[in-house]
Amino acid sequence: MERSENIIHNKGDIMMRNYLKHYINGEWIESTGNEIEEVINPATEEVIGKISLGTNEDLDKAVQAARDAFPSFSQTSKEKRIELLKEIAAEYENRKEDIVETITDELGSPKSISENVHYMMGYNHFSQAAESLKNFSFIEDRGGHTVMKDTVGVSGLITPWNFPTNQTSTKIASAFAAGSPVILKPAEVTPFAAIILTEIFDKVGVPKGAFNLVNGSGSVIGDGISSHPGIDFVSFTGSGAVGKKVMQNASERIANVALELGGKSPLVVLEDADVEEAARAAVSHIATNSGQVCSAATRVLVPSSMKKSFEEAVQKVLPEYPVGNPREDNHIGPLVSQKQWDTVQSYIKKGQEEATLLVGGTGKPEGVEKGYYAKPTVFTDVDNDMVIAQEEIFGPVTCLITYDTVEEAIEIANDTKYGLAGYVFGEDEQTLVKVASALKAGRVKINDAKADFAAPFGGYKQSGIGREWGDYGIKEYLEIKTILGYPKK
Ligand code: NAD
Repeated sequence: MERSENIIHNKGDIMMRNYLKHYINGEWIESTGNEIEEVINPATEEVIGKISLGTNEDLDKAVQAARDAFPSFSQTSKEKRIELLKEIAAEYENRKEDIVETITDELGSPKSISENVHYMMGYNHFSQAAESLKNFSFIEDRGGHTVMKDTVGVSGLITPWNFPTNQTSTKIASAFAAGSPVILKPAEVTPFAAIILTEIFDKVGVPKGAFNLVNGSGSVIGDGISSHPGIDFVSFTGSGAVGKKVMQNASERIANVALELGGKSPLVVLEDADVEEAARAAVSHIATNSGQVCSAATRVLVPSSMKKSFEEAVQKVLPEYPVGNPREDNHIGPLVSQKQWDTVQSYIKKGQEEATLLVGGTGKPEGVEKGYYAKPTVFTDVDNDMVIAQEEIFGPVTCLITYDTVEEAIEIANDTKYGLAGYVFGEDEQTLVKVASALKAGRVKINDAKADFAAPFGGYKQSGIGREWGDYGIKEYLEIKTILGYPKK
């Protein structure tokens, strides 16, 4: 395997990763620019490596490579693509330790989360895409006419920092399943997991030009992907503000986009719910990945009659999730960056002005000096029109909002510009179904339902456009063609 990194060495105890090349047309090549970005471990605030920030020239080369790969890659048989996805999944398993270590270093997630959430999500997307493809039909006889599903063309993928293997893998797996060559630009803050993915594709022999990695800034490579005439489809995951720009750029050439954006998801606790169980669920939403999860429930709706007992349960459960060094596997690690820490602090300050602080607050947890750690924070007496109830905070912060009737709970839950996820906790099946059906969100979970990687993921309203995961994810990378008069066999 050709090496991707220029140097990888231990500086004292620190593993330095200097990944200064892009992967274009099946080769690691030097950047044409000379801008370098340092990558910081958020738990230690130490530099752990570097990447090159690519240029438009680098991007043009990657687009050309993808376009050259398109004619043959888009015509590979379904069986070949299934085989490729399975080989990727197998090699991904071989790289498990590297993936877990890398995500712990670059994102600061505790090792258990790096393994059970980040590593597993990436693995599941590749193996699920192979599975979904088995029964996927690229040609359908619909009585009077035939529908063919053609590969959309070349796809540009732009991903955020909070799930370095999930967002990248779901997009790449779906694109490969559909036969679409891709150009990936991962987030500059957490770029190393994508390097490992690239090494995996290189090792299993993904055809030249079918996968290209160009590291870089949002303003150059991200903007370049969304506006590039050689890119037919753009799949973006990130903030709403950038999502709008991506859509605007793509609209110039009427290119299709899929947008996976933010959320302010409700967790509706019903009268008959187990209070402690529901409180534990509420806390786990802000603990997992330090609350840096687009689908996290960050508005907890509790019946007024349950307010006091729920607050007590939250106070009892929260200490089960201590904040600390992700390498020691405490449950809550740091936020990803100083910038994210500052943003979260400003929302906590805002919350202290508009609501009642139940637990947590501004500043670092006691005894912590280094690392972008924040205190898990719960506000109560929150009104749904407060800033902390309407804006995505993306940190370990949640709001308790009370309601009197189920109808009122549904109204509050839907009173948001977002619609990514929803959660409902309780016993009575009829009420659970009533609430789940009424929530205007792309994914609703009843009690502690298990994850399902075949189930579509995506948002209503300003949470996005399109769906990822499983067969719905594959469809995003296809164009529909109707053929009238297709000869019958
Ligand atoms: P972001 O929008 O700042 O950045 C996302 C990506 O876009 C990065 O790779 C960035 O470099 C790039 N980018 C920046 N400016 C760009 C531009 N002008 N044109 C094109 N690309 C550009 O988001 P973030 O801070 O990395 O991620 C957090 C956000 O992502 C949150 O809002 C979160 O809810 C959202 N998110 C959504 C989902 C989902 O599936 N719905 C999943 C994860 C994260």
